[in-house]
Amino acid sequence: MAEIVLKDVTKRWGDFVGVHKFDLTIADREFLVLLGPSGCGKTTTMRMIAGLEDPTSGDIVIGGNRVNDLDPKDRDVAMVFQSYGLYPNMDVYENIRFPLKVRKVPEADHHDRVMKAAAMVELEEFLHRKPAALSGGQRQRVALARAIVRKPQVFLMDEPLSNLDAKLRVSTRAQIKNLSHELQVTTIYVTHDQIEAMTLADRVVVMKQGKVQQVGTPTEIYDRPANTFVAGFIGNPAMNLMEGEMRDGTFTGDNITVSGFSGVANGPVICGFRAEDASVAQGEGQLSAPVYSMELLGDSTMVTVKAGGALAAVKAGKEFRTQIGAPFAADIPVGICHLFDAQTGERVG
Ligand code: ATP
Repeated sequence: MAEIVLKDVTKRWGDFVGVHKFDLTIADREFLVLLGPSGCGKTTTMRMIAGLEDPTSGDIVIGGNRVNDLDPKDRDVAMVFQSYGLYPNMDVYENIRFPLKVRKVPEADHHDRVMKAAAMVELEEFLHRKPAALSGGQRQRVALARAIVRKPQVFLMDEPLSNLDAKLRVSTRAQIKNLSHELQVTTIYVTHDQIEAMTLADRVVVMKQGKVQQVGTPTEIYDRPANTFVAGFIGNPAMNLMEGEMRDGTFTGDNITVSGFSGVANGPVICGFRAEDASVAQGEGQLSAPVYSMELLGDSTMVTVKAGGALAAVKAGKEFRTQIGAPFAADIPVGICHLFDAQTGERVG
C-alpha cells in the first residue's frame, strides 16, 4: 500500500518560495502528473518526495510512514530522470542489475529479475551493449528497467521523455502507460508537456509559481479549467480567452457578441471557448472578423481571427479554405463558453 500524503509541503530558499503549501493525497497505484511551465516547482516537489531536498515545512507520508527524516535510500522510491543516469562503463545488463546489488537482494534472484525488467521494456537484444552504443530511446528504456527491477513502492519520473525526438516520445509514452498499467505502482510524473500529462495521468496537478492551480482528471481539467492559467495551458491549441463586458446576460468584446448567459454579474469578464467546440457559421455568427491566418493541419483547417483583444482560433473542416483578410464568421453558442473573472482569472461560469 503506497499512498503518498503531502501535507502543506513548502520549500523556501531565503525569501523565494519554490513550492507553496502543496497539500494532496496521492492514492495507492495512482498515476499522478505534475504539469506546469519551467520553474513552477515540479522538480522541487518530486525531489522532496524522493528525499533529495528537505521541505522547509510540512509533512511527507509514504505508505503510512512520515518520511521527512528518512534518507532517500530508505524511502523505497525509484527515480527516472531525463538524463538517464546510466553508468557508462557497465553494459545494459549490469546497469539494470545495479540497484539489486546496492540493495543486497540475494544474488540467486538477480538474473530472473533483470531479464523480466529487460523484457518489459523490450531490451533483451541489447543486454551486452554499453550505454554509448544505444539510442536515446533505448537508454531511456534502460533507465526505466533499472527503476522497475527494484519493485519499489513508488516511481518518480522527471521528464523522462524530454531527450527523445517527437516520434520516439509518442511510442515511449505509450510504453510507460502500458508499464504503469501492468506494474500498478504509485507513480508521480513531472512534465511541462500538456499532451503527455493528458495521455498518461489518472489525475493532473497544474502548477504555477510554486502553487497548485488545479487538481483533477484530464477530462475535468480540460472541460472545467479552474482559471485562465489552466485554460491557457491545456489543450492544443489552448483555449481562446477574450476580454469583454457582460451586460444583462450578453457578452460583448471586439468582434464577438454571445447572448444567453444567466446568473452572471454585469461588468468586465473574460470569455473563453475552445477552437474545436466552435464551428464555421453558414450565415452570421456570434464571432465575426477578417481572417488573420489559416493553417492546414491535415485533418482540419485552423482559422485565426482577432477578437476580444486577443487571437481566437476556430477549427474548421479539412476542406475549408479562405484567405487572409477575407470575412469570417463562427458560431459560438453560449454552451461552449467558459467565463472567468476579469481581475483574478478565476472561473465564474
Ligand atoms: P523545469 O521544468 O524547468 O525543471 P520546475 O517546475 O521543475 O522547472 P523547479 O526546478 O522545481 O521547477 O524550481 C522551482 C523554482 O525554484 C525555480 O524558480 C528555481 O529557480 C528555484 N530553485 C530550485 N532550486 C533552487 C535552489 N537550490 N536555490 C534557490 N532556488 C531554487
